[in-house]
Amino acid sequence: MSMQNQDKRNSGGQGFNTSAIRNRMPSADMHEHSSPIYMTSSFTFESAEEARDLFSGESQGNIYSRYSNPNTDEFINKMMVLEHCEDGVPLASGMSAMFVSILAHLNSGDHLVASRSIFGSTHQIITQILPRWGIEYSYVDIGGDEYRQNPRRAWEEALRPNTKMLFCETPSNPGLDIIDLEMLGKLCRNRGILFNVDNCFATPYFQNPRDFGADIVGHSATKFIDGQGRSLGGVLLGSSEAIEPIRFFARHSGPALSPFNAWILSKSLETLGLRMERHADNAEKIVEFLKGRREISWVKYPHDPDHPGYSTAKKQMRRGGAMVSFELKDGLKAGISFLNSLEMISLTANLGDSRSIATHPASTTHSKLSPGERATVGISDGFVRISAGLEDAEDIIQDIQQALERS
Ligand SMILES: *Cc1c(COP(=O)(O)O)cnc(C)c1O
Repeated sequence: MSMQNQDKRNSGGQGFNTSAIRNRMPSADMHEHSSPIYMTSSFTFESAEEARDLFSGESQGNIYSRYSNPNTDEFINKMMVLEHCEDGVPLASGMSAMFVSILAHLNSGDHLVASRSIFGSTHQIITQILPRWGIEYSYVDIGGDEYRQNPRRAWEEALRPNTKMLFCETPSNPGLDIIDLEMLGKLCRNRGILFNVDNCFATPYFQNPRDFGADIVGHSATKFIDGQGRSLGGVLLGSSEAIEPIRFFARHSGPALSPFNAWILSKSLETLGLRMERHADNAEKIVEFLKGRREISWVKYPHDPDHPGYSTAKKQMRRGGAMVSFELKDGLKAGISFLNSLEMISLTANLGDSRSIATHPASTTHSKLSPGERATVGISDGFVRISAGLEDAEDIIQDIQQALERS
């Protein structure tokens, strides 16, 4: 870890926005107010002795941008403060973060337990890549009534003597199911299991899994952290012990975050708090509008009292976030026609953008699954997911309304 990381850990006690705005790399000699971009692959040494000390770890500093860089350092230092974590590693994308978080820790013969409702590519890693390397997995279905009656038992039943890591995403994608982080944090601590949480949907502004016992907190920074659909990025944060092997694995396997993307992402953090408040305002207004519509059988939003995970969401999330899901009564046909009728809301494979986005998983991301398989991850034929953007709420709602009327 660089010296800058050490300094930043002591700058706690500031508010979220102040930390996100004021933490920065040491200023260069140009008196620049805003951090510059260090597009350099390597850094020079004053002498052979200095090089020796840097390589041996006896002194701290930049050597090569796959190891560290002022821009990626600035970004990860802010993220550590915002996620209440002692250490962190910046990565090239959310998926490199998920991959490294698992592979840096698990060995052949180990077992992973994960919630079944997770991001599509994470599912591919767990089911297609891990078994090739002798790592076993079990899924826990989190959407159904049986799970809700006793969530703890569902997780306990999945554990084996060789279970080394528990992975989950909450709110889940795309079903917006809620998993009790405090419950899993305690379970993992009692059993000596690493607790790994993908916190992408909530963002550190609304939820801090480390406070509930997570050892590793991962993000796709591509989503709300960038916030304008420009750059890919990822982070892994957590306890020093959990991050140490992750840093080793990432440094030598190479999924390094570009300094340019880190510069964008660090700038984006300055407005994350402001943006998330507005995202949540808009999401709440969309929920309110949808609830009165006859075309819809249900609406799901973590901080809506009708959500089955409402009390848990209230406990662990400061607000309900930017994602809303609902079901069109007329199923597949209505879903396709709703998307085709939208005039402003974007149809694109992203979320967490300033522009509102609609997706219909049954005809796109989850079309290869059978209706039964889709049901286990909470997706029905008429299921639609909205990522509430930052446009004026009236315009978003107006677009949804006209599309509902035409579909
Ligand atoms: C998008 C996403 C990822 C993957 O991130 P990339 O930056 O696209 O690689 C992982 N988890 C969740 C929850 C996501 O939404």
